[in-house]
Amino acid sequence: MISLVSGGAGFIGSHLCDFLISQEHQVICLDNLITGHLENIRSLLENPAFQFINTDITQPLPTSLPKVDWIFHLASPASPNTYIKYSFQTIFANTQGTYQLLEYARQNQCKFLFASTSEIYGSPLVHPQPESYWGNVHSYGPRACYDESKRLGESLIYEFISKFNVDARIIRIFNTYGPRLNESDGRVVSNFIVQALKSIPISIYGDGSQTRSFCYISDLISGIWAAMRLPKTQGEIFNLGNPTEISIKNFAQLVLKLVENTQSKIIFKPLPIDDPICRKPDIAKANRQLNWEPSCALEKGLIHTIQWYKSRVS
Ligand code: UDP
Repeated sequence: MISLVSGGAGFIGSHLCDFLISQEHQVICLDNLITGHLENIRSLLENPAFQFINTDITQPLPTSLPKVDWIFHLASPASPNTYIKYSFQTIFANTQGTYQLLEYARQNQCKFLFASTSEIYGSPLVHPQPESYWGNVHSYGPRACYDESKRLGESLIYEFISKFNVDARIIRIFNTYGPRLNESDGRVVSNFIVQALKSIPISIYGDGSQTRSFCYISDLISGIWAAMRLPKTQGEIFNLGNPTEISIKNFAQLVLKLVENTQSKIIFKPLPIDDPICRKPDIAKANRQLNWEPSCALEKGLIHTIQWYKSRVS
């Protein structure tokens, strides 16, 4: 079995590559390294079953690509800081890039999985969010480059299924964390852990009453695997995330509790524009159709993650 992973040098992509290799797939990893890092795939580079191609999926695909069986399309900046910085690349990776990979899937009859996002629900008026919720998204603001391009990516999937019967499915990924989450991409998990390890102030944006639900990376990977592997998933959309909801203030306190001997104190900074006030996945559908649910509790996942950052932060 040959799998192509776009964005395979990113946080989620690199864990997916590791997992696919462990399942004895051959893996072709495409990444332009604007937010991915070679370090994430260092242990795979010498593996004969793994091939890394430094390329931008918005440009014509490499002519050397062999016929693959499965395509996982994850390539896109994904943290608010990075997609705001690389807004045009984000828009094109999720639109032009999705179109090109879908076209390749159509011509080569590959299975396809598109990594969409909980951001397509915007600042949700329905809580928790089921897949049937249409969302509350601001089309004209700093997060729109990500939210709207992911939404258009979903529309492209719809068109390729209805017009060409491509075997595609969509996952909507909720906040995910774990080792390799880039320490400088500004997400709450990496920021708080690094700040606590360095004993510098923990920066809560707003009053910290906004909520998120954090999924450990290995749980997410098992959901991605199930969504791609199981039959009868063509045209389906699955929320993948951990439904345990926590306010950002409580999350800060949890990090402070778990990072031993930290001298950090909480400080408050302005809430970014269009920051969703709550987020929690309804995973009933993934549970029913994929027999999937997360198994790693937040505290346990955070302990692993803190351990990983400890070796990197001096
Ligand atoms: N946040 C925070 N301090 C930080 C980074 C983020 O309070 O140093 C907040 C952010 O405003 C948001 C939540 O934590 O409400 C999650 O932010 P993140 O950037 O991780 O991802 P998002 O869920 O917003 O895409």
